[in-house]
Amino acid sequence: MTHILIIEDEAALVDVLTDRLLAEGHLVSSSLNGEEGEQLARNKTYDLLILDLMLPGRSGLDICRNLRADRNDTPILMLTARGELADKVVGLRLGADDYLTKPFEMAELLARVEALLRRTSPSSTDTLRFANVDINPERGEVKRDGVLLELSVKEFDLLVYLAQNPGVVLSRDRLLSEVWNYDIPPPTRTVDVHISWLRQKLEPDARRPQHIRTVHGVGYKFVP
Ligand code: CA
Repeated sequence: MTHILIIEDEAALVDVLTDRLLAEGHLVSSSLNGEEGEQLARNKTYDLLILDLMLPGRSGLDICRNLRADRNDTPILMLTARGELADKVVGLRLGADDYLTKPFEMAELLARVEALLRRTSPSSTDTLRFANVDINPERGEVKRDGVLLELSVKEFDLLVYLAQNPGVVLSRDRLLSEVWNYDIPPPTRTVDVHISWLRQKLEPDARRPQHIRTVHGVGYKFVP
Protein backbone atom coordinates (compact mmCIF):
# COMPACT_ATOMS: atom_id res chain seq x y z
CA MET A 1 0.00 0.00 0.00
CA THR A 2 1.23 3.49 -0.79
CA HIS A 3 1.20 6.24 1.81
CA ILE A 4 0.53 9.81 0.67
CA LEU A 5 1.07 12.95 2.77
CA ILE A 6 -1.03 16.03 1.97
CA ILE A 7 0.19 19.41 3.24
CA GLU A 8 -2.54 21.90 2.39
CA ASP A 9 -4.33 24.54 4.47
CA GLU A 10 -7.73 24.40 2.74
CA ALA A 11 -9.47 21.91 5.00
CA ALA A 12 -12.29 21.27 2.52
CA LEU A 13 -9.81 20.41 -0.23
CA VAL A 14 -7.88 18.12 2.13
CA ASP A 15 -11.13 16.29 2.93
CA VAL A 16 -12.00 15.77 -0.73
CA LEU A 17 -8.48 14.67 -1.63
CA THR A 18 -8.29 12.31 1.33
CA ASP A 19 -11.60 10.66 0.46
CA ARG A 20 -10.63 10.14 -3.17
CA LEU A 21 -7.14 8.85 -2.45
CA LEU A 22 -8.47 6.46 0.21
CA ALA A 23 -11.02 5.22 -2.31
CA GLU A 24 -8.13 4.53 -4.71
CA GLY A 25 -6.55 2.31 -2.07
CA HIS A 26 -3.88 4.69 -0.77
CA LEU A 27 -3.13 5.43 2.83
CA VAL A 28 -3.39 9.18 3.54
CA SER A 29 -2.02 11.51 6.21
CA SER A 30 -2.40 15.26 6.16
CA SER A 31 -1.45 18.53 7.80
CA LEU A 32 -2.99 21.99 7.48
CA ASN A 33 0.22 23.69 8.58
CA GLY A 34 3.55 24.00 6.77
CA GLU A 35 5.83 23.59 9.75
CA GLU A 36 3.97 20.58 11.13
CA GLY A 37 3.67 19.10 7.65
CA GLU A 38 7.43 19.27 7.10
CA GLN A 39 7.94 17.57 10.45
CA LEU A 40 5.65 14.73 9.37
CA ALA A 41 7.49 14.44 6.06
CA ARG A 42 10.77 14.14 7.93
CA ASN A 43 9.62 11.64 10.56
CA LYS A 44 8.31 9.02 8.22
CA THR A 45 8.79 7.71 4.69
CA TYR A 46 5.96 8.56 2.33
CA ASP A 47 5.52 7.45 -1.27
CA LEU A 48 4.28 10.86 -2.35
CA LEU A 49 3.85 14.37 -1.02
CA ILE A 50 1.02 16.61 -2.20
CA LEU A 51 2.27 20.04 -1.23
CA ASP A 52 0.45 23.35 -1.37
CA LEU A 53 2.53 26.43 -2.15
CA MET A 54 0.99 29.02 0.18
CA LEU A 55 0.78 27.63 3.70
CA PRO A 56 0.70 28.99 7.24
CA GLY A 57 3.82 28.18 9.23
CA ARG A 58 6.14 27.47 6.30
CA SER A 59 5.74 27.84 2.56
CA GLY A 60 5.62 24.89 0.20
CA LEU A 61 8.76 26.21 -1.49
CA ASP A 62 10.68 26.22 1.78
CA ILE A 63 9.48 22.72 2.63
CA CYS A 64 10.53 21.49 -0.80
CA ARG A 65 13.95 23.11 -0.51
CA ASN A 66 14.51 21.80 3.04
CA LEU A 67 13.55 18.22 2.20
CA ARG A 68 15.74 18.08 -0.89
CA ALA A 69 18.65 19.69 0.97
CA ASP A 70 18.24 16.85 3.45
CA ARG A 71 18.40 14.24 0.64
CA ASN A 72 14.74 13.38 1.09
CA ASP A 73 13.69 12.36 -2.44
CA THR A 74 10.00 11.65 -1.85
CA PRO A 75 8.18 12.62 -5.06
CA ILE A 76 6.44 15.98 -4.65
CA LEU A 77 3.32 17.12 -6.48
CA MET A 78 2.96 20.83 -5.90
CA LEU A 79 -0.41 22.59 -5.82
CA THR A 80 -0.43 26.22 -6.89
CA ALA A 81 -3.11 28.87 -7.24
CA ARG A 82 -3.59 30.76 -10.50
CA GLY A 83 -1.05 33.53 -10.91
CA GLU A 84 1.68 31.75 -8.98
CA LEU A 85 3.52 30.84 -12.18
CA ALA A 86 6.87 32.21 -11.04
CA ASP A 87 6.65 30.23 -7.81
CA LYS A 88 5.70 27.15 -9.77
CA VAL A 89 8.88 27.41 -11.81
CA VAL A 90 10.92 27.93 -8.65
CA GLY A 91 9.21 24.89 -7.14
CA LEU A 92 10.27 22.66 -10.00
CA ARG A 93 13.80 24.01 -9.78
CA LEU A 94 13.85 23.28 -6.05
CA GLY A 95 13.02 19.66 -6.70
CA ALA A 96 9.24 19.32 -6.99
CA ASP A 97 8.41 16.58 -9.53
CA ASP A 98 5.20 17.98 -10.93
CA TYR A 99 2.65 20.70 -10.27
CA LEU A 100 -1.06 21.25 -10.66
CA THR A 101 -2.84 24.62 -10.81
CA LYS A 102 -5.97 25.11 -8.70
CA PRO A 103 -8.79 24.61 -9.36
CA PHE A 104 -8.17 21.22 -10.92
CA GLU A 105 -10.26 18.22 -11.88
CA MET A 106 -9.96 15.31 -9.46
CA ALA A 107 -9.32 12.94 -12.39
CA GLU A 108 -6.35 15.06 -13.39
CA LEU A 109 -4.91 14.94 -9.89
CA LEU A 110 -5.36 11.16 -9.68
CA ALA A 111 -3.63 10.74 -13.04
CA ARG A 112 -0.64 12.81 -11.87
CA VAL A 113 -0.49 10.88 -8.58
CA GLU A 114 -0.48 7.51 -10.35
CA ALA A 115 2.16 8.69 -12.83
CA LEU A 116 4.47 9.86 -10.03
CA LEU A 117 3.98 6.66 -8.04
CA ARG A 118 4.70 4.53 -11.13
CA ARG A 119 7.79 6.51 -11.96
CA THR A 120 9.28 6.12 -8.51
CA SER A 121 8.42 2.59 -7.37
CA PRO A 122 9.52 0.13 -10.05
CA SER A 123 11.14 -2.21 -7.52
CA SER A 124 8.07 -2.97 -5.41
CA THR A 125 7.08 -5.92 -7.58
CA ASP A 126 10.54 -7.50 -7.84
CA THR A 127 11.01 -10.88 -6.24
CA LEU A 128 13.19 -10.80 -3.14
CA ARG A 129 15.39 -13.80 -2.35
CA PHE A 130 17.55 -14.86 0.54
CA ALA A 131 18.90 -18.29 1.51
CA ASN A 132 16.11 -20.77 0.69
CA VAL A 133 13.34 -18.13 0.79
CA ASP A 134 11.55 -16.43 -2.13
CA ILE A 135 9.30 -13.42 -1.54
CA ASN A 136 6.95 -12.25 -4.26
CA PRO A 137 5.57 -8.83 -3.15
CA GLU A 138 3.19 -8.58 -6.09
CA ARG A 139 1.49 -11.90 -5.36
CA GLY A 140 1.90 -11.64 -1.61
CA GLU A 141 3.58 -15.04 -1.51
CA VAL A 142 6.51 -16.41 0.42
CA LYS A 143 8.07 -19.78 -0.35
CA ARG A 144 10.63 -21.69 1.66
CA ASP A 145 12.37 -24.41 -0.34
CA GLY A 146 9.63 -23.90 -2.92
CA VAL A 147 6.86 -24.56 -0.39
CA LEU A 148 4.26 -21.82 0.11
CA LEU A 149 4.19 -20.43 3.66
CA GLU A 150 1.13 -19.15 5.49
CA LEU A 151 1.89 -15.60 6.63
CA SER A 152 -0.48 -13.01 8.02
CA VAL A 153 -0.64 -9.68 6.20
CA LYS A 154 1.50 -7.94 8.81
CA GLU A 155 4.02 -10.78 8.95
CA PHE A 156 4.31 -10.46 5.19
CA ASP A 157 4.65 -6.66 5.24
CA LEU A 158 7.26 -6.89 7.98
CA LEU A 159 9.26 -9.53 6.09
CA VAL A 160 9.21 -7.49 2.88
CA TYR A 161 10.38 -4.39 4.75
CA LEU A 162 13.19 -6.32 6.44
CA ALA A 163 14.28 -7.89 3.15
CA GLN A 164 14.27 -4.50 1.43
CA ASN A 165 16.59 -3.10 4.12
CA PRO A 166 19.38 -5.66 4.48
CA GLY A 167 22.10 -4.79 6.97
CA VAL A 168 20.20 -1.79 8.33
CA VAL A 169 19.58 -1.56 12.06
CA LEU A 170 15.82 -1.05 12.33
CA SER A 171 14.41 0.30 15.57
CA ARG A 172 11.04 -0.90 16.85
CA ASP A 173 9.67 2.62 16.36
CA ARG A 174 10.78 2.67 12.75
CA LEU A 175 9.18 -0.71 12.09
CA LEU A 176 5.95 0.39 13.81
CA SER A 177 5.97 3.51 11.69
CA GLU A 178 6.89 1.89 8.35
CA VAL A 179 5.05 -1.42 8.61
CA TRP A 180 2.14 -0.60 10.92
CA ASN A 181 1.82 3.02 9.76
CA TYR A 182 1.75 4.60 13.20
CA ASP A 183 2.45 8.35 13.07
CA ILE A 184 3.40 8.20 16.73
CA PRO A 185 4.26 4.62 17.71
CA PRO A 186 2.65 3.50 20.99
CA PRO A 187 4.57 1.35 23.46
CA THR A 188 3.79 -2.18 22.34
CA ARG A 189 5.29 -5.66 21.94
CA THR A 190 3.73 -6.04 18.50
CA VAL A 191 7.04 -5.92 16.63
CA ASP A 192 8.73 -8.51 18.85
CA VAL A 193 5.77 -10.85 18.63
CA HIS A 194 5.69 -10.69 14.83
CA ILE A 195 9.46 -11.11 14.61
CA SER A 196 9.19 -14.22 16.74
CA TRP A 197 6.49 -15.66 14.46
CA LEU A 198 8.57 -14.89 11.36
CA ARG A 199 11.61 -16.55 12.87
CA GLN A 200 9.64 -19.71 13.57
CA LYS A 201 8.47 -19.83 9.97
CA LEU A 202 11.70 -18.81 8.23
CA GLU A 203 14.76 -19.48 10.33
CA PRO A 204 16.50 -22.87 10.27
CA ASP A 205 16.68 -22.57 14.08
CA ALA A 206 14.37 -19.90 15.53
CA ARG A 207 16.37 -19.81 18.79
CA ARG A 208 19.57 -18.95 16.92
CA PRO A 209 18.29 -16.66 14.15
CA GLN A 210 20.67 -16.17 11.23
CA HIS A 211 18.60 -13.76 9.17
CA ILE A 212 16.44 -11.73 11.55
CA ARG A 213 19.00 -10.73 14.16
CA THR A 214 18.33 -8.92 17.40
CA VAL A 215 20.19 -5.66 17.97
CA HIS A 216 20.04 -5.36 21.75
CA GLY A 217 18.43 -2.23 23.08
CA VAL A 218 17.51 -1.02 19.60
CA GLY A 219 15.59 -3.44 17.42
CA TYR A 220 16.45 -5.77 14.59
CA LYS A 221 18.69 -6.22 11.60
CA PHE A 222 18.03 -8.37 8.57
CA VAL A 223 21.00 -10.37 7.28
CA PRO A 224 20.29 -12.14 3.97
CA1 CA B 1 -2.88 27.51 0.55
